[in-house]
Amino acid sequence: MNNCIFCKIRDKEIAKEFTYEDEDVMVFPDIHPLKPIHLLVVPKIHVEDFLEFNDQELMSKVKKVINKMIKEQELADGRGYRVSANGGGAQIVKHAHFHVMGPISQTE
Ligand code: AMP
Ligand code: ZN
Repeated sequence: MNNCIFCKIRDKEIAKEFTYEDEDVMVFPDIHPLKPIHLLVVPKIHVEDFLEFNDQELMSKVKKVINKMIKEQELADGRGYRVSANGGGAQIVKHAHFHVMGPISQTE
């Protein structure tokens, strides 16, 4: 856990400008954006994999933050967005998180 980059960001051991932060959730831009808008929505608690992220109350808070980001980034009304989570070995950072990307068209 000590080597987790997102825990280090949470603990301000690595400087990072947050797009959003509250006591449970932080949001910051992906360092290698795949789309013009590419945010990472990260629960502050260290859970390694999406499958193990089973706190319903926290999941509900994360969903609210994802909704807020989509609206704030003006991706809701036609510009298009994608929300994704990598897991099961597909994830690079083993601290559960969600990608929010856009704009995205129907053909992408
Ligand atoms: P994945 O675990 O596959 O969902 O990918 C982790 C994502 O975190 C990648 O898109 C990386 O570009 C991103 N990432 C890794 N380190 C940082 C960092 N220090 N700040 C922002 N994004 C990062
Ligand atoms: Zn962590």
